Parts: sequence; C-alpha cells; structure tokens
Amino acid sequence: MKFETKLKLAAGAIILVMSTVAALPMFVNHQVTSVMSELRSASHVERLQLSLLEWLLNAETAQRGFVITGDERFLDPYHAAVNGIPATQAALRKAMTSGEEIARAVALERATAAKMQTVEWTITLRRNQGFDAATTLMGTGTGKAQMDALRNLIGRELATYSQRRTELSDRLVATSNSAANASLMATLTNILFLGGVLIAASRVLRQRDAAEHKAQAAAGQARLTSERFSLQNELLFRSAELMHSLELAQTVDESAGVIASYLPRLLPNLSGSLYLYNNSRDVLERKAGWGDFENEPQTIEALDCWALRRGSVHQFGGDHALACRHAGKADVARLCLPLVTQGEVIGCVTVTGPGLLRGADEQRAWIGQLAEQLGLALSNVRLRVSLRQQSIVDPLTQLYNRRYMDEVLKRELVRASRSGTPVSVLVLDLDHFKRINDTFGHEAGDAVLRRVAQTLRENIRSCDVACRMGGEEMVVLLPECGIEHAVKRADTIRLAIAASEVLHDGQRIGATASIGVASYPQHGADMQELVHAADLALYEAKHQGRDCVRVAKMDGAALLVNEDAAGI
Ligand code: GH3
Ligand code: MG
Ligand code: MG
Repeated sequence: MKFETKLKLAAGAIILVMSTVAALPMFVNHQVTSVMSELRSASHVERLQLSLLEWLLNAETAQRGFVITGDERFLDPYHAAVNGIPATQAALRKAMTSGEEIARAVALERATAAKMQTVEWTITLRRNQGFDAATTLMGTGTGKAQMDALRNLIGRELATYSQRRTELSDRLVATSNSAANASLMATLTNILFLGGVLIAASRVLRQRDAAEHKAQAAAGQARLTSERFSLQNELLFRSAELMHSLELAQTVDESAGVIASYLPRLLPNLSGSLYLYNNSRDVLERKAGWGDFENEPQTIEALDCWALRRGSVHQFGGDHALACRHAGKADVARLCLPLVTQGEVIGCVTVTGPGLLRGADEQRAWIGQLAEQLGLALSNVRLRVSLRQQSIVDPLTQLYNRRYMDEVLKRELVRASRSGTPVSVLVLDLDHFKRINDTFGHEAGDAVLRRVAQTLRENIRSCDVACRMGGEEMVVLLPECGIEHAVKRADTIRLAIAASEVLHDGQRIGATASIGVASYPQHGADMQELVHAADLALYEAKHQGRDCVRVAKMDGAALLVNEDAAGI
C-alpha cells in the first residue's frame, strides 16, 4: 500500500475516533438524563406510596380517636385521607406505567379501598350503635390485618423502588465509568494513531530528504562530469590545434614558439619550460617557457634531471621529496617529463605549480599524454627539417643544391623587381680540378670541395646563399647587392680559395677558382638570362687564364676583373 493511502486511512481513523469522542458526551448525557428521569420517577412513586401509607395511618388513628371519644373532631384526619387518597392513587397510577406496576397499583388500590371501607364501617357503627359495637368490630382484627397487609404491600413497594434506585445509581456510575474509559481509550487510540502517523511522516520526510540529497548529489556529479567533459573536449581541441600548428612549423625554434603560445591554455595555472638537446647533445637548451618560468635555468644537463636520467616522468612535491638539481624553486611542486620518440630522448618538459599537488592523477596523466604528443610532434618537426635539409643541401659540401638555388633565385628576383633592388650571381668553377683528382685521388678532391665550401660560407653574408651546382661548380646568390660589390665579393672569395689548402695524407693541396659575375637587372631579366650571363663570364675567365673574376658584359662579352679591379 502506498504511503499516501496509509496516511489517508490513518487520518480517517483519527477523525472517526475524534468524532466518537465528540459524540460520547451527548450519548452519556442522554444516558444520564434517562437514568435521572427514572430515578426521579422512582422517588416520586416512593413519595406517593409513603404519602398513601400516611393517609391510611392518619385515617386509622382518626377512627381510633373517634371510637374512643365519639368526638367528631377526631375524624378530621380521616376526612382529609378520604379526600387525599384518590388523588394520591391517581398520581400513583400515572407514575406506575408498566404492566406489572399497574397490577401492583391495582392491588394496592383494592387493599386501600378495603381498609378505608373497614374504617368507614367502624366509624358508622360508632356513630349509630355506640362505642361497644365499634370496639367489637375492631376486636375482630380485620382492620388491623388490613393495615398490616397494606404496610407489607407498601413496604415491599418501597423496597422495590429503593432497589430500583440503587440499580439506577449503579447504572449511572457504570455509564459514567464507561464514558470515562471510552474517552481514555479514544484518547489513547488517537495518541497511537498520531504517533504512528508522526513516525511514518518523519520516516517519509527522512526518505525524501535522503532522496533529495541523493538527487542533488547526482545532479552535482552530472554537472561536474559535464564540466569535466567540456574541459577535456576543450583541451583535446586545443591540443589538436597545437599539433596541427606544429605540423606546419618549419623549424624547431618556430615549433617551440608555437608550444609556448599554446601551453598556458592547455595547462592553466601552471608554469613550465620546454628543453631540447642542442645539436651536440651535451646540454638541453630552454626553447620555450610559459607562466612563471624566470627562475628556470637557460640550460640543463641530462644528469641534473631525474626524468632525463630514468627516461620516465619524475614528480617532486607532496610525498615525493627527491628534487632535480636544475629545479629553481625547490619547494614548488614539479613534474619533469622526458620527450621520448622512438626510444630516443629529445628533450624534456618541466611543469611547476602548487596545482599539481591538488590536481588529481587524471591531470598528471593528461600532462603525460601531452608530453608524449609534444615529443612526437617535435620529432616530426625535426624529421621534416632534416628531410627538407637533405632535399636542398648537398651532402658533400653542405652547400645548398641546384634545386634550392633555383627556388631562392626566382624568389629574390621577384622581390628585387618589386623593390627595385639589385641581385648578383657569382658562378664559380675550380680550376683544373680533374688534375687534383688525378694527382691526389678522389677523396682528396672531395676534401678540397669541402674546404672551398667552407671558404664560401666564411666569406658571404648571412642573407647570401651559396650552392653547389654540380661537380666543382658553385653559385653564390647575393641579394640586394649591385655589380660593384658583387665583383669585390667574388674577388675576396677567389683570393680566400687560393689562400686556403687542405692537408690530405700528409700533403698540402690547394686550389684556385675562376668566377663569373652577373647582376640583375643589367645582365638578365630572369633567372636563365642571369645565370647564362654569369656562365659566359666564367667561360671568359677560364679562357683568360683562370684564377680570376670576370663580369658579364651587356653584349654578352665578359669584362676582365684582375686583382687590382677588386678595389672597384
Ligand atoms: P677547368 O679548369 O677547365 O674547369 O678544368 P677541370 O679539370 O676543373 O674541369 P673538368 O670539367 O675537366 O673536370 C671536372 C672534374 O671534377 C671531373 C670530375 O672528375 C671532377 N668531379 C666532379 N664531381 C666531383 C666530386 O664530387 N668529387 C671529386 N673528387 N671530383 C669530382
Ligand atoms: Mg673546373
Ligand atoms: Mg667544371
């Protein structure tokens, strides 16, 4: 049965009991009124019977007094009785209503009438025949017997009505006791019902409270879960964005900048640094930092970091008391995560902040995943940089290759045509290189090529681009450089090459170079024309005896630039 139904039934029962209790006084009152009325009636009958007895006694006394004295005045009580008895009998008839009572009343009336008849006869005898006749009649004992019978009759009646009154009194007491008991029972029943209802209601209230509490807790949990999911989604979205940006990064430094711009949002309220091994892999350099990283060192050594030593995450703070040597503020909670890719450690990420201690394992797991992804992404960047390097760099000399030269020259010419600045090209060919190979061997030739490439790098600006076109022929692009400065640069290079030598198998090997110079816009409007003009100038330099610089001519001939001309 449902609780509401039980509650309604209990309330109905309480109302019933209370209605009964409310009706009880009326019932008791009715009972008492009825008993009281019966009591009054019994008392009335008793009084009437006593009155009748008194009338009879008075009549007999008056008869006796008259017989003895013959004085009529003694008969006054008799006359009063003669007048009073019928009224008393009528009242008795009225009061004695039940069949049995009426029968008793009739018997009493008869006995009274007989007695009064005897008294009357005695009085008449005394009047008419004198004292003796009357006393003779009295001496028969009839009158006395009648009076005794009446006394007995009325005595029994009185006893009956006395008994009746006692019974009625008992009934009154019993009614009153029943009413009190019923009232007590009703009150107890009500108390029991009310107690039951109160207990049930408080139980239900407790259950409702518990259910409400549970519902609130569930709602809170759902809200937290939803917030956590949306935060996770946000983080996943951001990390995907970061990884995408890293895919587009051209260099490791650029990717470090990308990481530094994303990590404050991916690791809110935390600080950190990104360290990567330098090329010689002896130290790790800080490539990026976010948050409060000023106290973090610029470089760290692998042995200073437990994460790098172990190749796994290292935590400091809380229960973990082992601090890395590179740690700036020793009391700040810290995570060091190695960046591992294909078994190789390429760097590490340090994350600091008191939030790490409060944060759940989930957060540390998330940081670990992020570090894994960063390691992979950075490794990809390195791989891409390396592949790109391989695709544009000549492996022997580490100079850019022809493909890259074409690319850059095209770009520089477009820029120059837009800005109206010049671009110069030096085409360089080693003299009698075949002889070097033939004389000292191919490896010696390679060493000479490497040395010449080094000399080139040392004698050009950072914006200039030196390339190996193939064999022992090289090209130098000089953006924003006019012909005069280009010639000077060419001659400087020529002299530097002539001055340098390599030591191979204990032999000093030197080389010279011939250089053709051409400039945009005067010697060619596009790449082909410009390189062709420089080639012609180189050809001219070879013909003019080698180890010299020639400038392309407007008409296709080349201009000799001797050592003195280097001062132009
Ligand atoms: P010239 O002064 O006229 O330029 O004479 P040259 O001997 O330098 O020119 P030639 O074209 O006859 O010879 C070029 C030589 O360069 C031929 C080839 O064996 C050599 N060579 C080309 N590439 C390499 C290389 O990668 N390594 C070495 N060691 N030699 C190379
Ligand atoms: Mg040559
Ligand atoms: Mg050649």
